Amino acid sequence: MKERLVELKTEALEKVAQAEDAKALQDVKVQYLGKKGPITEVLRGMGKLPKEERPVIGQMANDVREEISTAIDEKQTKMEEAALEKQLQEETIDVTLPGRPAQTGGPHLLTSLIEEIEDLFIGMGFEIAEGPEVEADYYNFEALNLPKGHPARDMQDSFYITEEILMRTHTSPVQARTMEQHKGKGPVKVICPGKVYRRDTDDATHSHQFTQIEGLLVDKHVRMSDLKGVLNAFAKQMFGEEREIRLRPSFFPFTEPSVEMDISCKMCGGEGCSVCKGTGWIEILGAGMVHPNVLEMAGYDPNEYTGFAFGMGPERIAMLKYGIDDIRHFYTNDVRFLNQFHKA
Ligand SMILES: [Zn+2]
Repeated sequence: MKERLVELKTEALEKVAQAEDAKALQDVKVQYLGKKGPITEVLRGMGKLPKEERPVIGQMANDVREEISTAIDEKQTKMEEAALEKQLQEETIDVTLPGRPAQTGGPHLLTSLIEEIEDLFIGMGFEIAEGPEVEADYYNFEALNLPKGHPARDMQDSFYITEEILMRTHTSPVQARTMEQHKGKGPVKVICPGKVYRRDTDDATHSHQFTQIEGLLVDKHVRMSDLKGVLNAFAKQMFGEEREIRLRPSFFPFTEPSVEMDISCKMCGGEGCSVCKGTGWIEILGAGMVHPNVLEMAGYDPNEYTGFAFGMGPERIAMLKYGIDDIRHFYTNDVRFLNQFHKA
């Protein structure tokens, strides 16, 4: 019986040592120390022993039981410590690592550019005027010398909501509305930024939605030279002091005479290159003296008042200024593109 106990002890301690997880350890505990375990069995069989041997074997069985139990407890503590150590190591925080910068948003390139242009004209005494994007045909076309059936309407074919209401095709209706509010009295000196809509098929240079900034100045004795002076100041501040401007005759229904303004090419300095298509000049905007009919419809006496107006596309200006080759970049909202222009 003594031998059997020694054998059980050796066996059990070996299994405790081999146990690799809490489950295995628990199994050893149940197997050797449980009510149906071999030690209990030994104790049951003591009745067959001579009387004087019973206490010795009983003592020995208890010692073996105690020893196995202690071994199991120790092993369990060790396992818990190891698990904790492992967890601590895995969750170590290196406090010397630099932090990850928080992602901060910023204004869209077009918003920044429009604000830059606004600031520039505010500096020249202009005010900002805004108007509805869903506009009456009257303000979008008729008040701007584009009566129904006028062929120039086709160039701006738009999204009509009803016969008389449409998504505005330019920001010019804001000019018509502003003049009307002034009830025939000058001066009017505004710039009108905003979104406009046309039924264009999207490609590298066209978008069904884009932005415009128009300017209007109406007062007594406004001359073409005033227009040239304002445009020259704008071009130099926007594109650099060394830029020259050039006015070419053009046609718009709401101005007479009408011009296109070019600036000297920044890339080649006027020599001719691929950006300016060999001409040395790049077209920037359209402008002109406000048509007497437009003044009259807005309630001004064209014999007393004159004015000039101009309109430009911020997308085109941004594309020239930053060398962007596709207008769709502005609207697909790919942060990899937008982040390049995000001033920290
Ligand atoms: Zn050039």
